[in-house]
Amino acid sequence: MGQAAIIDGKGFAEGLRARVADCAAAFTHKAGRKAGLAVVLVGEDPASQVYVRSKGKQTVACGMASFEHTLPADADEAQLLGVVDRLNRDPAVDGILVQLPLPAHMDEQKVIAAINPDKDVDGFHVVNVGRLATGLPGFVPCTPLGCIMLLQHTLGSLAGLNAVVIGRSNIVGKPMAQLLLAQSCTVTIAHSRTRDLSEVVRRADIVVAAVGRPDMVKADWLKPGATVIDVGINRVPGAEAGKTRLVGDVDFASASTVAGAITPVPGGVGPMTIAVLLRNTIVAAHRNAGLAFDESAL
Ligand code: NAD
Repeated sequence: MGQAAIIDGKGFAEGLRARVADCAAAFTHKAGRKAGLAVVLVGEDPASQVYVRSKGKQTVACGMASFEHTLPADADEAQLLGVVDRLNRDPAVDGILVQLPLPAHMDEQKVIAAINPDKDVDGFHVVNVGRLATGLPGFVPCTPLGCIMLLQHTLGSLAGLNAVVIGRSNIVGKPMAQLLLAQSCTVTIAHSRTRDLSEVVRRADIVVAAVGRPDMVKADWLKPGATVIDVGINRVPGAEAGKTRLVGDVDFASASTVAGAITPVPGGVGPMTIAVLLRNTIVAAHRNAGLAFDESAL
């Protein structure tokens, strides 16, 4: 059996961040201000705090302005909507991201709907979902856009390939399927009610796993030579007592003997998400400032 090429998402993300930094410097020069990303965090969820800190650091490292707004876990929805409204009207803010999940007493859809679609760098607003579905320029959710970049980098043209996306969430699975369709793949969306999942996956030239179940996709589910993108991030007990480690939705050790190319976890899709967020922010900045910009250069 062969050994798959490892798709280096970490390295690709570094390159993308460097290109964003170049564009951000040029933007500052042309616009007379820095591009700005605002991140809003409600509550003290430790994982969300880590993401928000990391987003802030990487935004600044790319030469853009970072604005962080933190609300207590018991803040009411009106307070959060007030913050979003201020950011919508703030000309220094090009992108707005409300860190999910929100506390249970808040309506996520209502909060996302309050973000100006032209600052919705997460691509979750229905206007951007509709733009993606109809092929209009908008903002695409960061994780699936990162996956399509890795696929194009690995395979070149995706036209005519059979792609199976496992998972149908609004954040990953559904936009992933739209992006693959836009690249002329023949797309199947599999989910928790799919029958004979292994048979469905075996037909795929491209497999994108976005489920949240450790090591679910096995080597014998894969067509030899398939390209495998593992979005899953699952924390499982490590070898040492009390320690944990991250694994994906694909059984990497066995799958990498059958796949043609595969993303590792960690170091595959994960690092792409923030890099694409920064990409979306510099795109938003140019659009909001009315400056021409070749987005394909990113
Ligand atoms: P989700 O829970 O919203 O959706 C999971 C999907 O998997 C659902 O559509 C469900 O139908 C499907 N599913 C569940 N059990 C299944 C089964 N047995 N067989 C087939 N399909 C099944 O999750 P999500 O937000 O889409 O995230 C999926 C995974 O991706 C998680 O591990 C998450 O941590 C990870 N993730 C990673 C990044 C990143 O930056 N790399 C970003 C977002 C999500």
